[in-house]
Amino acid sequence: MRKNRLGAIAAMAAVAALALTSCGGSDAGSDEAGDKVRIGIKFDQPGLGFKDGDKYTGFDVDVAKYVANELGYSEDKIEFVSAPSANRETLLETNQVDMIFATYTINDSRKERVGFAGPYFIAGQDLLVRADESSITGKESLDGKNLCSVTGSTSAENVKKDITGVNLVEQQGYADCLGLLETGGVDAITTDDIILAGLAATEANKGKFKVVGKPFSEEPYGVGLNKTSEKCADINTAIQKMIDSGDWKKSLDMNTEGTGYVPSDLNPPKEFEACA
Ligand code: GLU
Repeated sequence: MRKNRLGAIAAMAAVAALALTSCGGSDAGSDEAGDKVRIGIKFDQPGLGFKDGDKYTGFDVDVAKYVANELGYSEDKIEFVSAPSANRETLLETNQVDMIFATYTINDSRKERVGFAGPYFIAGQDLLVRADESSITGKESLDGKNLCSVTGSTSAENVKKDITGVNLVEQQGYADCLGLLETGGVDAITTDDIILAGLAATEANKGKFKVVGKPFSEEPYGVGLNKTSEKCADINTAIQKMIDSGDWKKSLDMNTEGTGYVPSDLNPPKEFEACA
C-alpha cells in the first residue's frame, strides 16, 4: 500500500517533470543558439583534451571551441563534460551532451548508435613502452606481453580482433595505464599515436617512455552527435573553415610541440562524412 502510494507520487512527479520539460521547450537545456552547448571531451589526455583546474586545453578543445563559435556559441556558452571512451555513445544517446570532441574514431558499429561529422584529424594506433624497452618494436612483438588499453576504445577492440598471444589489461583512461607501465604492471600501452605522444611528453613523464612509432590503423576523429542532431553539415563547414584559415594547423602544432609527434600525411582530412 505504502509502496503503491509512493509509486503513484513518483509517477505524478515524473509526469510533472515531463510537462515542465515540454513547456520549457527549447529553452530548457537544449542546444539552440543563444543557450548553452554541452561538449564532451577527454579530461585526462594532455595535448588533446585536458582539464587543469577550470581550464580546458588541447587540440580537441580548440576544434570544439572553433566549431561551437561557428555554430553561434561563444566560449562562455560552452559547458565541457568529461566523456571517457566507454561512455561516449551513451552520453550522446541520452542527450547528456550535444557534441563530442574526444579522440572519437568514426566507425560503422558506433554509427549504429550515434551520428558523426568530420573527421577533423586522422591518427593511427601505436604503442608506448618504457624508455629502456628493447623487446617491443611493433604489434608483432607483443606475444606473452601485458598490454594496457581502455575499455570502449577502438584500440582495445583492435587488439582483441587482431593481436593474439597478448594479455590485454583494460583501464578507464590512458592516464591510468601510464602508472601501470611505469611500475612494470604492464609492458606497453596501446592507443592512437597522438594520445601516446601527449602523455609521454608531460613534465612528469619526460624521458620515461617512448612511442614505438609504427602505427597500425587509421583512426579518423569525428564529432560525435545524437542521431537526431541537425548540426552535421554546419560542423563540416566549420571544420573546413578552420583548416582553410590556418587555425587548424596552428592549434595542432601548438598542442604537439615538444612531443616529437609528426601527424600522418592523411592530414588535414580531405573528405567529410556525408551528413544524413
Ligand atoms: N580513437 C580511439 C577511439 O575512439 C582511441 C582513443 C580513445 O579511446 O578515445 O576509441
